[in-house]
Amino acid sequence: MEDEVVRIAKKMDKMVQKKNAAGALDLLKELKNIPMTLELLQEMASDELKEMRKNLTKEAIREHQMAKTGTQTDLFTCGKCKKKNCTYTQVQTRSADEPMTTFVVCNECGNRWKFC
Ligand SMILES: [Zn+2]
Repeated sequence: MEDEVVRIAKKMDKMVQKKNAAGALDLLKELKNIPMTLELLQEMASDELKEMRKNLTKEAIREHQMAKTGTQTDLFTCGKCKKKNCTYTQVQTRSADEPMTTFVVCNECGNRWKFC
C-alpha cells in the first residue's frame, strides 16, 4: 500500500515539474481511496512543490466534496456547452462568518466555475 503511494507521489512530482496540472489531478483522483495519502504527499513535498500541491489538493478535495454533496440542478447554464445539466455545491471556503461560495460543475462537459 505504501509503495503504491510512493510510486504515485513520484509520478506526481514529475507532473508538477512539467506543470501538468491535469495529470497531477488525475493522480490525486487515483489516490482518493487511499487513507492518509494527502498527508503523506504533503510530508514528501519539497518546498518549491508545496504550494502547487496544496492548490491541487484543495482542488481535489473540492471535487470530492462536490461528488459527495453536490446537488443536480437545471438552475445553471454551462458557459461552454450551454446545457443545463449541472451539479452545484456550497462550500464555506474561509471563516464561518463569510458567505458561502457556490461551486458549479457541468455534468455534460466538466466545465467548472464558482460564484460567491
Ligand atoms: Zn458544459
